[in-house]
Amino acid sequence: MAYKNEQLEEEKVFKDPVHRYVHVKDLVIWDLIATPEFQRLRRIKQLGTTNLTFHGAEHSRFNHSLGVYEIVRRIIYNFKDRPHWNNNERLLCLCAALLHDLGHGPFSHSFEKVFKLDHEYFTQQILLGDTHVHTILERVEAGFSQKVADVIAKTYEDKLVVSLISSQIDADRMDYLQRDAYFTGVSYGHFDMERILRVMRPIDDQVVIKSSGMHAVEDYIMSRYQMYWQVYFHPVTRSAEVILSKILHRAKYLFEHNYTFKLEPTHFVSFFNEKVDLQEYVKLDEAIVFYYFQLWQEEDDDILRDLCERFMNRRLFKYVEFNPNLQMNEWMELYRLFQGVGIDPEYYLVVDSSSDLPYDFYRPGEEEERLPIHLLMPNNELRELSRESDIVESISGKKRTDHKLYFPADLLNKLTDGDVKKRMFELLYGEGAENHVD
Ligand code: CA
Repeated sequence: MAYKNEQLEEEKVFKDPVHRYVHVKDLVIWDLIATPEFQRLRRIKQLGTTNLTFHGAEHSRFNHSLGVYEIVRRIIYNFKDRPHWNNNERLLCLCAALLHDLGHGPFSHSFEKVFKLDHEYFTQQILLGDTHVHTILERVEAGFSQKVADVIAKTYEDKLVVSLISSQIDADRMDYLQRDAYFTGVSYGHFDMERILRVMRPIDDQVVIKSSGMHAVEDYIMSRYQMYWQVYFHPVTRSAEVILSKILHRAKYLFEHNYTFKLEPTHFVSFFNEKVDLQEYVKLDEAIVFYYFQLWQEEDDDILRDLCERFMNRRLFKYVEFNPNLQMNEWMELYRLFQGVGIDPEYYLVVDSSSDLPYDFYRPGEEEERLPIHLLMPNNELRELSRESDIVESISGKKRTDHKLYFPADLLNKLTDGDVKKRMFELLYGEGAENHVD
């Protein structure tokens, strides 16, 4: 029997807290899960530094990837006898779902920003390069790894297949919202996925939702909206991320200035040089990063040592609301005051901005075209979701941005010059600042 049709003698199941069970029957899927590249995802947390805010959030990208696979498996099962659906694409969808996050590294967000990396590029490299995953995909058929790569890159010709993995209502989002809600323990983020799966219909090149399922989709959109502001953009999580980014900046700076490390940053050298090849990239996981941060707490460099101590022991920066467009003068004065007392503002006075667009209707030609969610009306007409739902309409196309200014309140509190200290707190917290100092 051809490898692509080979089934396991007995179905394998993974116990999963969100979907109860993840079912695997295809030998190809089972083999992919066993590869070192996929097993590596066990050592990369789905939510990076969020566990410093919500201590339950220790789940990995491995969990999430299996979850996305399982959702796509269930969708395809529902689709299998429907017109518009080409069942030959089944294995392709399952592989793309399972492997869509393969290129994520530890704390991707910070690493990508500091070292100008792109996890999507590395996903493609792992699929197409000299890897175990590549070997398995090419056993399915010559050129299959390229197909999987195209689906994940959204360039695959059959857009119906692409939309299962990435659209405004896709298996990726449905899994991470529920999984992240479960592991953080928050009460938002839950919605009736079973219902949404039952009302999904493949029509031409897109997945649409039977209009009777509109309220389940409203719930999903709102849960996404709330998860972003309550969990993903939580200011304490961002504080940890700010510190993490500054550690990477500092280590890179020291490396470039020939500082003698007690623990040489061997695993980071190609990142500092911004020439990371695949073999070096996949070697880096959270265990390695923590190893360095743990030992860098003993470095002679004050900034690197302090930032690592902060990160490892959750001694985070405090924050205030801050609008960089309106508060430039305050910022400049603070910057100079920090310099004056020997606290380097490049590392200790940091503006962080987060923004999200919860749902968008179709706006052709824009930077990132987002395909809208369509409802299938009883007369078989398609209607864009925000035209039918008042709830969705109210948040559609509205980008919300939040700016915060991060600083080490503990260091400011230790300052001996009372006037400087008072002025800093005034600038940070406004008049009557003493009341806020802790
Ligand atoms: Ca994902």
